[in-house]
Amino acid sequence: MMYDVVIVGAGVIGGMLARQLSKYRLSVCLLEKENDVAMGASRANSGIVHGGYDPEPGTLKAKLNAEGVEKLFNVAAELHAPILRNGSFVCAFGTEEEENTLRELYERGQVNGIPNLSLISGEEAREMEPALSEKVSLVLNVPNAGIVCPYELTIAAIGNAMDNGVCLKTNYAVNGIEKTEKGFTVTSAAGEVVEAKYVVNCAGCYSDKIAQLVGDNFFTIIPRAGEYMMLDKTEGSRVSHTIFQVPSVEGKGILVSPTVDGNLLTGPTAIKVADPACTETTPEGLEQVARLASKSVPSVNFRQVITSFSGVRSSEKNGDFIIIPANGVENMVHVAAIDSPGLTSCVAIADYTIELLREMGLVTECDPTFNGTRENPHAFREMNDDEKDAYIKEHPAYGKIVCRCETVNEGEIRDAIRRNPPATDIDGVKRRTRSGMGRCQGGFCMPYVMRLLSEENNTPMEQITKNGAGSEQLKHRI
Ligand SMILES: Cc1cc2nc3c(=O)[nH]c(=O)nc-3n(C[C@H](O)[C@H](O)[C@H](O)COP(=O)(O)OP(=O)(O)OC[C@H]3O[C@@H](n4cnc5c(N)ncnc54)[C@H](O)[C@@H]3O)c2cc1C
Repeated sequence: MMYDVVIVGAGVIGGMLARQLSKYRLSVCLLEKENDVAMGASRANSGIVHGGYDPEPGTLKAKLNAEGVEKLFNVAAELHAPILRNGSFVCAFGTEEEENTLRELYERGQVNGIPNLSLISGEEAREMEPALSEKVSLVLNVPNAGIVCPYELTIAAIGNAMDNGVCLKTNYAVNGIEKTEKGFTVTSAAGEVVEAKYVVNCAGCYSDKIAQLVGDNFFTIIPRAGEYMMLDKTEGSRVSHTIFQVPSVEGKGILVSPTVDGNLLTGPTAIKVADPACTETTPEGLEQVARLASKSVPSVNFRQVITSFSGVRSSEKNGDFIIIPANGVENMVHVAAIDSPGLTSCVAIADYTIELLREMGLVTECDPTFNGTRENPHAFREMNDDEKDAYIKEHPAYGKIVCRCETVNEGEIRDAIRRNPPATDIDGVKRRTRSGMGRCQGGFCMPYVMRLLSEENNTPMEQITKNGAGSEQLKHRI
C-alpha cells in the first residue's frame, strides 16, 4: 500500500503529528525502531508545560511555545491525558545579576505574548510556597505554566491516532529512504518496505541520521543528557508550583516540581553525551541534582527517592527547532532539534508541520468520522466508592489489586494490553497504568503483570520481556 504520509519516530512529536493528521482523509503510517512508543526523550523529561517566557523572541521556539501552551491543554483534555495548570516560579537568590536576568525574562515574556506574568518578592512567593528557600529574593511568577505526564500524553495521542486509522509499526528501524517516481520507499534494518508520498522525519536524537539518508548534512544533533531523582508521594506536596532557578546557557536549571501523579521530581542536569541511547545516571549527576534542588527548597527529603532516571535532549548548535523541507528531496520534512520546550509545543509543532506539508501539495480534506476524544483510561479511579462497587460487580477484574503501591487493578492492566497502542511488555504496562511505579518499583506486582501479559497475548511466561528482546525475566520452569 502507498501511504499518503509516513512519519519516522513515535515520540510525542511524531505521535502528535499522526494524531493531528488523522483528522483528514489521509492514510498515515508511524514507524518506530523500539518495541513501544515514547521510548526516546518523550519518555524521560521534566514534563513541564513551559510558560513561554524563555525562548528568544523571533525564534520558532518562541512562536510555537507561546501558541503551544493552550493547544496542549485543549488536546490533552480531549485525550484524557493528565495535565495540571500549577504555575511556575523562576527564582533569583539575592544577586543583582540573577535579579536582572529575571527582569529580562519578564520583558522577553511580554514580547512573546505570555499572559499574566509578574515579578514578585521572595516574601510574596513564600506566602504561596512556604517551603521556598529564605534566600529567594525575587521571583518570576508564571501562572499559565503546568505539568503533564509526557509518556501518557504520547501514548494517548498515538492511541487516538490509531483509533482514527493511523497504522503504527514498532520494531521498525528505518535505515533507508529512497525517492521513487511515485514517492518514497522507506526500508527497515530487517528488510521491510513501506511506501509513501510524503515523509516526515521526527526521529529525535537520530533525526540527523535520518536526514543523511536523503543526503542532508546541514544539521548535527548534539545529545545532552539530563538526570533526575523521583521522590515518593510523601514528598509530593512539598511544593505546588514548579520551582526553577534563573536559567543559564546550559538550560533551564534544576527544578523541583510536583508531578501529575503526586510525586516530587528533581532535576535535570545538562551533560553532553556521545551516545543518545545512554540513559545512565551517575553519582556526580545525582549529587548535583540534590544540591541544587535543596538550594531552592531546602526541606526536600532525599531519603524518599524511589527512582532515578535520565533522558537525552536532541539539541543543535543554533539553539532553535528545525522544522523545514528537506534539501535533498522533495516532499519530505525534517522536524529536528526538538529539545525543550518541545513537549509543551508538540501540538503547535504538529500543526506547523501540516502547514508545510500542505504547501508541498498534501491535500487535507476533513474526515467526518474523526473522533478526537480518547476513552478515559483513568475512569475507574475517578469513580466514587459506590460507583466503583457497582462497576466491580459487573467487571470483577477491577476488584483485584495487582500493584498495591499505586492501587492498580487487573481490569486496568488488561485494558492497557488491549487498547491502542497495546502494551506488549512489563514496562509498557508500567507506563500505561503506573503498575510498578510506586515505592517497591515492581518488586511485588511484576509476576502478576507477567501472568496477565502471558494470558492476554497467549505467550509463554519465559518470553515475556521487561523492555523488548533480550530482557526476558524468566529462564525456564522448575
Ligand atoms: C532531560 C529533558 C528535559 C526536558 N524537559 C522538558 C520540559 O519540561 N518541557 C518541554 O516542553 N520539553 C522538555 N523536554 C523536551 C521534550 O522532551 C522533547 O522536545 C520531546 O520529547 C521530543 O520529542 P520527539 O518526538 O522529537 O523525540 P523522541 O521522544 O526522542 O522521539 C523520537 C523517536 O524516534 C525514534 N527513532 C529514532 N531513530 C529511528 C529510526 N531510524 N527508525 C524509526 N524510529 C526511530 C526513537 O526511538 C524515538 O522513539 C525535555 C527533554 C529532556 C531530554
